[in-house]
Amino acid sequence: MKRYPHPTVLEFVRRQLGLGKRQVATFGSWEGFATLSSSEEGAFFTNAGYERVPSEIETARMAYLGDLQFEIMALWEEGRSDAVTFNLALEYLRAQRPRLLYIALDESDDWAHARRYDRLLDYINVFDAYLKTLWETVQSLDGYSGRTTLIVTTDHGRGITPTDWVEHDEGIEGSADIWIAVIGPDTPDRGEVAPYPTVHQADVAATLLRFFGLDPGAFNPEAGPPIPAALQADSAP
Ligand SMILES: [Zn+2]
Repeated sequence: MKRYPHPTVLEFVRRQLGLGKRQVATFGSWEGFATLSSSEEGAFFTNAGYERVPSEIETARMAYLGDLQFEIMALWEEGRSDAVTFNLALEYLRAQRPRLLYIALDESDDWAHARRYDRLLDYINVFDAYLKTLWETVQSLDGYSGRTTLIVTTDHGRGITPTDWVEHDEGIEGSADIWIAVIGPDTPDRGEVAPYPTVHQADVAATLLRFFGLDPGAFNPEAGPPIPAALQADSAP
């Protein structure tokens, strides 16, 4: 898998804030999430696909999850269970205190490809509980409580008919439709924002940078703008 030819927003934040390599981290269920996180290998901490946490920073819980990932038979062999990825990320959050953490899950896509709508709904309930746990954990930790923003989104939509809802690709209507949810101290509680001018996946990086007080224009002038609805009115562009 090819890497981006330009620094990603994760690399940009680390460099601009002068953070250590463990202060920015990616946890992914599919190994491709490590490659697509940065333009250079080893730019910051990644743990993706079937991978253990290095022993020098491994807690007992990380070691247990590290063993478990090889026992849980995920639906497809390409990715490990999201239960492992999420709980490793949560443990890393507590132990390493990163400033920027990217958690990339993928089981909703797997169950849909398998045409298991029943399991997809079950999984969405599991994911909802992950989100609750993540938010409650953040609010329970000094340094994060009241100072942390969660940005939740999806990398693509999928078909919208009874036949093609399992797939996503160019030419399948609905594949380009995504949603973005933002919650944190700098984001007004607007509930669902609609109708609203279309925002794009390319706008997520600039939005994230605004929460760090960094200049999106210095990152990549060709990337999208910050999403105004995610920011307080007085800090909107
Ligand atoms: Zn897919």
